[in-house]
This record gives sequence, C-alpha cells and structure tokens, in this order.
Amino acid sequence: MKTLSFSCELSNGVHARPASHVEALCNQFSSDITWQNQRTGMSGNAKSVLSLIGTDTLLGDECLITIKGQDEDVAMEQLQRFLNNEFPHCDTPLQGNENGHHIDLMPLPRNFANLEVKHHQGRSVSQGVGRGTLSVMGAVSFDNLNDLPPVLALSDEKLQMKNGLELVIKSISIQLESAQCTESEVLKAHLSIVNDVEFQQTLTSHLTQSQSCANAIITTAQHFANMVKKSASQYMIERELDIRDVCYQLLQSIYGDERFASQTQLSEPTVCLAEDLTPSQFLELDKSLLKGLILTSGGSTSHTVILARSFAIPTIIGLDAKQLNESIGQPVIIDGHLGAVVTEITDPVERYYSQEQKIKDIVATRQAKYRDLAAKTHDGKAIEVAANIAHSVEARPAFEQGAESVGLFRTEMLYMDRSCAPDENELYNIFCQAIESAGGKPIIVRTIDIGGDKPVGYLNIPAESNPFLGYRAVRIYSEFIDLFKTQLRAILRASAHGNLKIMIPMISSMEEILWVKDVLSEVRQALRKEEVPFAERVPLGIMLEVPSVAFIIDQCCEEVDFFSIGSNDLTQYLMAVDRDNDKVTKHYNSLNPAFLRTLDHVVREVHRHGKWIGLCGELGAKGSVLPLLVGLSLDEISMSAPSIAATKERISKLDSRECRQLLNRAMDCRTIHEVEHVLAQFRMNQTQAPMVSKDCISLDRDLRSKEEVIKTLADNLFVTGRCRYPNKLADDLWAREDVFSTGLGFGFAIPHTKSEHIEQSAISVCRLAKPIEWGDEQAQFIIMLTLNKHAAGDQHMKIFSKLARKIMHADFRDRLMTASTAEQIETLLKQELELV
Ligand code: PEP
Ligand code: MG
Repeated sequence: MKTLSFSCELSNGVHARPASHVEALCNQFSSDITWQNQRTGMSGNAKSVLSLIGTDTLLGDECLITIKGQDEDVAMEQLQRFLNNEFPHCDTPLQGNENGHHIDLMPLPRNFANLEVKHHQGRSVSQGVGRGTLSVMGAVSFDNLNDLPPVLALSDEKLQMKNGLELVIKSISIQLESAQCTESEVLKAHLSIVNDVEFQQTLTSHLTQSQSCANAIITTAQHFANMVKKSASQYMIERELDIRDVCYQLLQSIYGDERFASQTQLSEPTVCLAEDLTPSQFLELDKSLLKGLILTSGGSTSHTVILARSFAIPTIIGLDAKQLNESIGQPVIIDGHLGAVVTEITDPVERYYSQEQKIKDIVATRQAKYRDLAAKTHDGKAIEVAANIAHSVEARPAFEQGAESVGLFRTEMLYMDRSCAPDENELYNIFCQAIESAGGKPIIVRTIDIGGDKPVGYLNIPAESNPFLGYRAVRIYSEFIDLFKTQLRAILRASAHGNLKIMIPMISSMEEILWVKDVLSEVRQALRKEEVPFAERVPLGIMLEVPSVAFIIDQCCEEVDFFSIGSNDLTQYLMAVDRDNDKVTKHYNSLNPAFLRTLDHVVREVHRHGKWIGLCGELGAKGSVLPLLVGLSLDEISMSAPSIAATKERISKLDSRECRQLLNRAMDCRTIHEVEHVLAQFRMNQTQAPMVSKDCISLDRDLRSKEEVIKTLADNLFVTGRCRYPNKLADDLWAREDVFSTGLGFGFAIPHTKSEHIEQSAISVCRLAKPIEWGDEQAQFIIMLTLNKHAAGDQHMKIFSKLARKIMHADFRDRLMTASTAEQIETLLKQELELV
C-alpha cells in the first residue's frame, strides 16, 4: 500500500472539472485508490468524480491518497507528478468569462437615475428593451415530474438503463467533437459523470430495489445532489446543476423527448438568466417568448451574443447572478440600451418605459416607409445600404431590416471558439444558407481575417507584441494555404446558387493581390477538373484598410473588381493610432481632414477606372458623418442591420450636391474641431425649423414629475428631428437644474440649456393637467429652451430673461394657461418674444 499527502491549492476546490482529471488518471490503474479529506474526514473513490466531489475538498484542505494494488508503484509516481504539475492548473478560468474583470458601466441618464429604481447594471451587448419573468436557464428541475413510467421486469429495466447510458455517452461525445473551448470543458465534466463508477453503481442498486429507470435516475440525482449541497463552498454547490443536467439527459435518452420534454421550452414572456448559453441552446428557444438574455459569464463576442443581436434580443453580460437571486420568478425589465435589469417595476418605471416604447413605435413607423426602398438622396442619387454580418443566420433578419445586400460577411467567427477549422462542406452549407436568405441580392464574403488580435487556438500562431501590425488576415494565408483554399472552394461552390463576391482583407501590396489571384485560379482549375459547378464570374475585391493601397489604387483597379473601405483599420493605420490605447484614442478620429482627403482620393480614382467602391467600417452607421459619406459618392455603405432603416431615411433627406460641397469644405479644414463645426453648421442649416412651432407644444399632459417632463420634451425634440441624442440633451438640462431649479413661481418653470446635442434650437412648451413639484416650487406650465451650442452668442440668455420678465405679468400667464390650442400658444410666444 502506498500513500500520498498533499494540500489542495484550487481556489474553487475539487469540483466536477478537476475531479474529472483525477478520475481519468486513476482509472488507468487497476489498484484501488482512495482520496481522504483530512479536514472533513470524508473519503471517496478516486476513480469516481462524484465520490471525489463528495469529499468536499476545498482550498487549503490536507488530503491523503491511498493506493493499493498491483500497479501501486507506477500509479503513485504518476499521481504525484500529476498533483505537482497539472492539478494546480485544472481549474483555470474558462475562456470568454468576463466575470471578475472590470467592466465599465455606462453612466445612466438622469431621467432614469433620478427614479432611484431597484436595478442591476452590467454591460449591454445587444440593444432593445424587453420584459418578462426572470428564469434561470439550464437548471433542470425534477420537482414537477409526476406520473412516472411503470416498473418493468428487472432485466428490461437494466437493459433500458444500459442503452440509455450508452446513448448519453455517444451524444456527449459527438457534441464534444465540435465543441468550443468552454463548452468542451463542461461536456468533458458531464461525460465523466455518466461514466462514473459510483454513479452507475448507484443507478443499478436502485434498479435492484425494484425501481424503474425513471425512479432510479431521480433518486440517484437527489442522492448526489444532496451530497454536493453539503459542501461549504458555494461554487461546489452550484456544480449540482451538472449532475441534474446529466440525469435529465439520461431520462430523455431512455423515455424520449416527448415524455421528458426539453426544459429550454418557454411558456411565457421570459428574460433568461444563464451562466452562458450555447448557440444551439439559444436557437432552440422560442424567440417570440424570449424577451431578454442575461449571461453572467458570456463574452461580448460569443456566437450566442452575435445571434442575440441579430434576433434583436436585448442582452447583458457581466452581471453577478447572485444579485438577481431574489428576482427569479418575478417580472423584470431588461434594458439593453442602459445595460440594466430593473427588478422593481414601480409606477414611474412603467411610465418611463411606456414613453420609451411610444418613441420607438413612432420612429419605427416612420422608418418602415424607407426600409424596403432602395436608398436614394433627395435629388435622386442612389447609394446602396448594405449589412455587415458574421454568420449566415444573421442574413435573413438583415434583409428583413432593409439591407439591399450584404456588404461584409466577416467569416472569421466561423473559425473561432472551436477546436478545429470548419470543413469545406460546413462552410459551403453556411454560404448557401446566406444565399437562400438573400433572394438574389449580392453577398460580399470576406475571407478569414484571423491572427493578430483575433486568435484562433488551433492555428498555434504565437502571441505578438504588436498584433495589429503583425501576422493576420492575408498575411497568414500562405502558411495556412489549405485553410484558405478550402474557404475559396466553399465560396465558389456556393456561388453556383447565388450572387457571391469574394473580398480579401488587409491587402497592402500588389504582390499580395497577384498571389491571391494565382491561388484563386488554381482553385477554380481544380473545381473545373472535378466537374464541380461554380459561377465563372465571381467578382474579386479587396478591403481598402492599409494606407499603402491608396497610393497604388490605379494599379489595383487593373487587377480587382471592387473595393470596400475598412474605415476601422484605415483610420488606425493612417493615423498610426492604436484604438485600444486610451491614451491616444483622441487621435482615432475619422473626421481628421487627412483621412477625408484619403477617402476622396481613393473613391475618385476607383470611379475614374470604372470600378465599384463601398465602405464597411463602423463609420458607415454614424448618422452625423453620413453627409460626408454621401459627398464622397460611395457606391455602397455597409453597417450592422439595426442601423439600416434609419440610414436610408437620413439619406432621403440629403442633397448629394450639398453633401459634396460640405465634403469640400471639410477637406479644406485644418483641424478635426473645424470639421466638426462645419458638420454642425450643415446640420443646423439642413432644415430651418422655426424656434417655436406647434409640434413642440403640448397641452394638458398627464406628466407627474420633473423627470417625466424633461424626458418627454427632450424625446419630442428627437422625434421632430431637432436632436439626435435626447438622453444627452436631457442630461445637459439636468446639469443646469442641479445648480438652481428653474421654477419661477406662479406655476411656471423654464428649464434651459445651450447644448451641442440640439441641432435645431427650440422652445418647447408643456402645459400639465395638474401642477407638479419643481424643486421648491410647483409648476404647471413648462417652457423649455434648448439652444444650439453653435448658435449666435447670447441669444440663449436674451430669450430666457425676456420670458422671465413676461411671466411676471398676470395677463401673459393667463393667456398661456387658458389658451385652447397649440397654435394660439405658438402665435403668442412668437409675438411676445419677437421671434417672427
Ligand atoms: C474595418 O477594418 O473597418 C473592417 C470592416 O474590418 P474589421 O473591423 O473586421 O477589421
Ligand atoms: Mg479591418
């Protein structure tokens, strides 16, 4: 007999994952191996994950391992080596876990923060607002399983159990083959539970006590769950879920999904709380009932998050699940704009969100008119508005949101978070799926942009100190030539079924273009030889994101069919500024005149050569910059799908010639600040809305607090097209209220600001049905002044003091309070303030 002592150094103790490593090693030997925790006195079979978990071994516990049998010497030697070298690393955090990392929380708008509602904040990774019952996903429950199947003869039950176990093992093993890192670790732990000797023995012993498989499984689950629950560690207690999960799979494999239905089924509007969800679990959920997702361990780039975005499911990550414990089973609101989960739905909260919904509906109805039309400026110039997608499942929602084409299909996601690259058929199917959703519209598939800052484990590309300037995109293709060729083959094969184009990322020289063309013609040749169908004329394009290309653009036009400007990278390379470095982000600005001149040069050159050029970086969705992009005469702008309808609407209001003049003025500017000023002036002059107009006047409103008034009036300025960011405008108004409340007495208040967030200066009016508290005063008649920061000097104060003087007169006040229409108030204010 041999013994080994050691101290447990795992911060979460020996839970399922480390236990499965110990079990796997111990099962290689015939000797009996016992693990005893000296603190608890509990001992267990080291060949069983569940026994090991049952010893409740926590950080710092002293343990004694006893080995008895023929191969005890070799077993001891290997266990010793394992415990010294590998065991301490058995519980490194799983990838993609943002927990524990600092997450910058978005500052809450004052109109929300002032409500002081019970809420928890995380990081929003998918916008929108949803409401439903908070329920934990992934937690299988045995509580409501009534009417269990009857007991059969022992031999039949044993056979059922044997087949069931085999089926679960097979199913987990298949999932493991394509599992991503995190998922694969969890699956391995599950596999070791099903294979566990103690687990299987317990099942059998219940069968021999004349129980059915169903009863045996449930009792076994409860037995081991109780054992784990006794642990002093919260982390270990949470592993109980793994046991329940496996047992439920076993029930399903024996009795079928009809008898034991999938518990990811939703029965009411639900906000799901989960540690993480696999993409397939997400896809299984009924989207008409899924109102929001809270992923406590999810990363912002996981496939599930990408899918959530494309299905417009509000999603928040980085929240501590414990904070939400009390709210499970209760109605909550998930706010994907603010990254907040509201757990107490008070009356002010209801009113806040019903106002949000109202604005959303108004905007959606207005934009719906543009969604299905081809984008055109007011003077009739067409500019295609396309979608950026990262998976084929995003294609359908993108076209539904008005995409005229896919301007960028980023394919690297298809290679990330998995243990090996997708094969040709998998890729082919994915591209065909996108084609099916496109209904003949074009899709630009960008070949993989991996390496550098987008690591893919199985390629074993060493970490670099300067990843953005390093080994990425087209630069890795010659080393991973099979990977590249496989992708080209898949795209070409899919091209037989639809309108595909190929685009190469990070091209910086003619050599790279020529090399790519050679490889492409080799691949075409091979397909022809194999008589595999593909479209002969699949256009080839390049990303224009490395500045060197701008200087050989004429030569590039001779070699490729089209270009797409990658403004994210082009900005960072042109300005030599790392956009992830806080110290230099102020230099990362696409309004730099040097950047605008570069864009103008490349677009002109490309058009001079009769070729096509689009833009697919984040800049495309920036409404404030849109007039400059229209001024460039780009053929297309590609962006994430939710921005498409709004962009089409904005384009329809622009005049292409005015936009060109604006661009010329911007390129003549010497600084970014000057460009911003020119842009702000342009917006101001776009629609010369009068300072007072009836669409900013509302009478006898049921608003119940200062917050509601400021929010409603600022939102209205957004709806009427005078302001882009109502929350920011409202924050500016609040900044002044903080210094002194603007109640003037007599039931009047004049909140005011001079702000960069109002494009068309306005005087908004709101007469309330009942007076409300306004600081120390009561107010029933609110006149809100919002003046553009770039507007003439002291106009703001002049209007304010004139108004304040007028309000001193009872006659003026009476006329405002008794006016029966918005028009009457409009006329009165215009006259008295001499604004005509
Ligand atoms: C870009 O650089 O602008 C671009 C679209 O590519 P990515 O963001 O994928 O690097
Ligand atoms: Mg790029």
